[in-house]
Amino acid sequence: MKMWIDGQWVDSASRQAFEVTDPATEEVLDVVPAGTPQDVERAVAAAQAAVAAGRQTTAVERANLLHQAADRMRDHFDELVRLLTLEEGKPVPENAEEIDWSINTLDYYAELGRHVRGRVIPSPDVGQLSLVLKEPYGVVACIGPWNYPFLLLVWKMAPARAAGNTVVVKPASLTPLTTLRMVELAFADFPPGVVNVVTGRGSEVGDALVSHPDVPVVAFTGSTAVGQHIARLTAGQMKKLHLELGGKDPFVIADDAPLEAAVEALSYAALINAGQVCTSTERVYVPRAMMPHFAEALADRVSRLRLGPGIEPTTDVGPMIGPTYRAKVEEHVAEAVARGARVLTGGRRPPHLTRGAYYEPTVLVDVDHSMRIMREETFGPTIPLMAYDTFDEAIALANDCEYGLGACLYSHDARKVRRFYEEVRAGTIWINDPLTDNYAGPFGGMKMSGVGRELGIEGLEEFWQTKHVHWDIEGGIKDYWYPYGG
Ligand code: NAP
Ligand code: MG
Repeated sequence: MKMWIDGQWVDSASRQAFEVTDPATEEVLDVVPAGTPQDVERAVAAAQAAVAAGRQTTAVERANLLHQAADRMRDHFDELVRLLTLEEGKPVPENAEEIDWSINTLDYYAELGRHVRGRVIPSPDVGQLSLVLKEPYGVVACIGPWNYPFLLLVWKMAPARAAGNTVVVKPASLTPLTTLRMVELAFADFPPGVVNVVTGRGSEVGDALVSHPDVPVVAFTGSTAVGQHIARLTAGQMKKLHLELGGKDPFVIADDAPLEAAVEALSYAALINAGQVCTSTERVYVPRAMMPHFAEALADRVSRLRLGPGIEPTTDVGPMIGPTYRAKVEEHVAEAVARGARVLTGGRRPPHLTRGAYYEPTVLVDVDHSMRIMREETFGPTIPLMAYDTFDEAIALANDCEYGLGACLYSHDARKVRRFYEEVRAGTIWINDPLTDNYAGPFGGMKMSGVGRELGIEGLEEFWQTKHVHWDIEGGIKDYWYPYGG
């Protein structure tokens, strides 16, 4: 495939390309251009020119094009789901959800973007008008990760565009294909330069894009390390940074939790997309008295999940995205075991799947916060269970972490629920229904999990800058001007 710049399919100035592979079979799916800073320059110039032209477009025109993009994607739903499954690896139902979400996000922001563009506030005096105007910034850089490669770009592109900005998108190098196909299907009718996609390595294309002087906003989802790098790189430029970063989400099982439902909820929260979700449950706290029973039931449930290529209808858990990501999981498990943890199920590569970075869903007990598996983002199919004695202790353990993306609780005890959502420092709190997102519900992190929010009204406002207009309509001479003292 080619890149999409200024309303045209183009090759990179480098004439180089890189391969995109299927993580389940390791076969090459396609090649895409290896972009360069020169390509970024072209894309930003096109986006910048479209900003000037865009001053003439109305909110309704923008809304109609976003709705049209959503409709085109609906018409090609199965094709997009299949392509996403092949390049990302997770099972078909999870990709169907990702595409469905993306489509609905376009419709949601199409409507929000034409609803308001500021407010009128009371003026200091009569005969005056005071406006709060919400204005687009201009060119927004949208950079996404490979784990929800499509959705997380749409969470940026849709509100950025609804707010009147133009975008330069850089998809993750492991997963650019669905994004390019979406542009072909759904965005090709947008005015040239409004949506541009540059493929290529983060260190090359990403750096050039985020530090470009004509890019006032960077909307990034990815690792905390790259988020910090972007913040350092752009520190001198006073850009608006919108950073959705890593997580280490806790799941607290309360002592009143029904066993079967809690086991099912936890399995899903920890293992969806093979644990490669920013809000995956990465550490679990279980009442000490409940632990033996709970751990046994969980290990039994998890050991019955079916591993395989995401494209097969019977697959529950697909491959990991690649060997370096699996190696980190193996390191975390090995270090925990060396420090006294016990593996109840999993803890190895499945012997029958020799191609693809598969790892068996793994349940561990006897873990503690000295272990990397309880402190650092593992980003794989592991469920470490730690025992607690009091609910106070469970909350303290949940907060004992540098990240603050999401946090889950299973309980029907209203007092515990209230304490949990008031005291746990995380951007999203899920009670009894982990990892369910809501278009109207702002999503993002506290602490090292980032700054800014996506979705909801907040997710639109991130892409507006605010201007206050003070207008004295008559414009008479004021008694508080010079000279002072009469
Ligand atoms: P990553 O390595 O940080 O990469 C994310 C994106 O940044 C990719 O498109 C990457 O390009 C690009 N990039 C790399 N270096 C760059 C640079 N110097 N300047 C600008 N862009 C650069 O993350 P990942 O491995 O793809 O994704 C997994 C991480 O994302 C996890 O930490 C996960 O928690 C986080 N995540 C967070 C959220 C959230 O909402 N908070 C959601 C999903 C995932 P290349 O692909 O070319 O390297
Ligand atoms: Mg990476």
